[in-house]
Amino acid sequence: MKKLSRLWRAFERAPGLAAIPAQWQQYCGPDYSVIQPFLRPTDMVGAAYPCRDCPARNCARDIDYGNGEILAVCHNSWHRRPDIPLTTADIILHRVDLPTFTQTVARPLGIRWQPPVARGHGAWGVGLAANEYGIERAVVLLVHTEQDRFRCALNRLLADSVEKFVLLSPTDRHKNLEVHEMLLRREIPMHTLDGCLGLNEDGRFAALQPGGFPLAAAEPPVEPTPIAERPEKVAAFLAKHRLTIKDVLVALNLDRRDFNRWRNGKLPDSSSKSKRIEAYLHTGPLPAKTTR
Ligand SMILES: [Zn+2]
Repeated sequence: MKKLSRLWRAFERAPGLAAIPAQWQQYCGPDYSVIQPFLRPTDMVGAAYPCRDCPARNCARDIDYGNGEILAVCHNSWHRRPDIPLTTADIILHRVDLPTFTQTVARPLGIRWQPPVARGHGAWGVGLAANEYGIERAVVLLVHTEQDRFRCALNRLLADSVEKFVLLSPTDRHKNLEVHEMLLRREIPMHTLDGCLGLNEDGRFAALQPGGFPLAAAEPPVEPTPIAERPEKVAAFLAKHRLTIKDVLVALNLDRRDFNRWRNGKLPDSSSKSKRIEAYLHTGPLPAKTTR
């Protein structure tokens, strides 16, 4: 299994997941061929061109237009590199086709994919992922080039979402102490493409560790509720989420008899039904079940 760290890092270097082909090649290095099939031309042109083997570190050439020519011009005043003539195709910004890309990586990650829905700047809901009890949560992909913007976007996501969700980012570069604490307070697990996804021998995306995504490892097991507290806990849960018992039974695919047996302490704590109920009461309803 091959790691794709250069590629995921490139996602956090291209603003809006768009760059000219030469920049994608520079950012991705040997991983360029992996992302190339997902790049689509936009109707915008770039302003900078990579300056290879320039003595100045991180020199970016300007793209200049003059006399019907397009030139990439080095601005290193001491050792200026010769101009590079470019074609129109060279300067078109290419963006990652997010629907196709997320659909392709959803299967190895175990995400029930849906076409991406914008959830704020640089954030998209890309599907649902289930934990070991079958409780599903929205998976939100968050991609930003700058730490500040990442943190602001996350702040807004947390404010806008009453439900817990699973955060997915290309790398953990933006996860500093502050972000870590924001996520911890809301019990939001964060996973990275860098940590979860690689390339197998057939050149296809594959999970680096089967079962590593998305919820099981990040969540502590739910402790069984003391039997005496169960009726009150259920009543408070229904009131909080404005649900009926029937809603809960449908969501958990349970019949009322089993639910009552759990409530009266007649169902073993070790049974999968008990675990499902406890996890549901702990996690809260699916996004679709809320009354927002
Ligand atoms: Zn240069």
